[in-house]
Amino acid sequence: MKNYGLYIAGSWEEAASGQTFDATDPATGQPVARVALGGPQDVDRAVAAATPAAKEWQALPLSERSAALYRMAQIMRRDADELAVLETLDSGGSLYYSGVTIRDVAARRFEYFAGLADKLEGEQIPLRDGYLAYTVREPLGVTAHIIPWNGPMWEASRSVPPALAAGNAVIVKPAQEALLGAIKLGEIAKEAGLPDGLVNVIPGPGSSVGQALVDHPGIHGITFTGSVAVGQDIMRRAAATLKRVVLELGGNAANIVFPDVDMAQTVEGSIWAAFSNAGQICVSGPRLLVHESIAEEFTERFVARAESLSVGPGMENHEMGPLVSEKQLARVLEMIEVGKAEGARLLTGGARLGGALANGYFVPPTVFDRVDNRMRIAQEEVFGPVATIIPFASEDEAIAMANDTPYGLANGLWTSDLGRAHRVASHLQSGQVYVNEWFCGDISCPAGGYKMSGIGREEGRQAVDNYTQLKSVRVKWG
Ligand code: NDP
Repeated sequence: MKNYGLYIAGSWEEAASGQTFDATDPATGQPVARVALGGPQDVDRAVAAATPAAKEWQALPLSERSAALYRMAQIMRRDADELAVLETLDSGGSLYYSGVTIRDVAARRFEYFAGLADKLEGEQIPLRDGYLAYTVREPLGVTAHIIPWNGPMWEASRSVPPALAAGNAVIVKPAQEALLGAIKLGEIAKEAGLPDGLVNVIPGPGSSVGQALVDHPGIHGITFTGSVAVGQDIMRRAAATLKRVVLELGGNAANIVFPDVDMAQTVEGSIWAAFSNAGQICVSGPRLLVHESIAEEFTERFVARAESLSVGPGMENHEMGPLVSEKQLARVLEMIEVGKAEGARLLTGGARLGGALANGYFVPPTVFDRVDNRMRIAQEEVFGPVATIIPFASEDEAIAMANDTPYGLANGLWTSDLGRAHRVASHLQSGQVYVNEWFCGDISCPAGGYKMSGIGREEGRQAVDNYTQLKSVRVKWG
């Protein structure tokens, strides 16, 4: 079993407490690596390393900053197979999906922001004769990135590249439940020639490492992805030091299926919207709103396809892997019971898998129909492989139901009517809308939440705004 330390100031370090914890394979329940358990003292060490590293980074010519980030992407592509294994080992997703994450998502994001690093331009503001005013984008300093377990490198590679491109040093706190995918980020940065201390990785509990990052006066921005309750707590605590806060919280997307669709393509797309990564994706589409005229046929085909998905360990490349942890398994099974008790009809799945998979945290694709949009099973984020099917009669009703949730992260729709596609998209209250292909898009498209799904936008060139502050310089030259 491999041991991993904290990554501080360009080297692997033991935790100040000397303690470790086990990273666990959710397909077997067995430990797969031992990891140093960071604490508040380690946060102090990381901030002490990051602060001068940020200054060194800011002093580099921007072409060099850009080239160094580009080298990080090249290293990720070179080591993609090894990094994909780490991503899968403790998060449970398929190895194929993890490979795509490293090559097409993480490396691509570093390339995208490498290209932006030397284009953070300000503006000239007209005043009057003899005066000149202009704006300059300056980095915040040190930023902290508190990430969840549903794809550690996927999550870390979202906010770290724009923060670095803007001239900041970063401290990443991965989730204890799954973190191995992100553990090598600091080492990759060092090999790419970034200053020691610019990228630090500190595993450890949210209640100590996470809170210490939020409270630390030497940290100037917090980017958090995870649950609403923790996001709210972070925002309250960050007020004490007036940190910049970006929150990407839960979602409960509606997947609206109109009657004029290609049924085979829509069923297949909706299956992956609901069950990719065992439903543990914030922009999953588990809430299926299906036009009443096609609901019966759609449901039959959707259930048949759900039952055909192969379920098993991510390392064996099954179509669907386990839930990330025993805690998440308990939450998903509890929500399935809630759905049954509320009167929804369980069409398939609904129980933990046994046999050869009994030691892992496996729940098969689960589908409910006869669901009312006001039921908890439809309103709450289950964050597991549980889809609900809700019929609708009119476009207005579909839009109203889609928006009738506290969340507003993503929604999607399937139709062959172009006018309807744009009309419905314009009425959906969410930061992202997918039309005729779930998850389509790229790092170039801003992502974030309306309503309780968060504040701020990650991805897209706007993401660097999270990590810069604007200065206006006013000059009398006449
Ligand atoms: P949390 O919000 O508890 O955890 C997310 C991250 O925040 C982890 O790194 C965690 O550390 C850290 N954290 C926890 N408490 C604090 C704190 N007080 N201060 C600072 N950081 C903290 O998510 P859970 O893992 O408990 O998942 C619960 C639910 O959240 C899920 O069922 C799902 O609904 C939602 N979720 C949404 C995600 C998304 O992508 N939007 C991702 C993950 C979860 P650690 O766990 O190591 O203690």
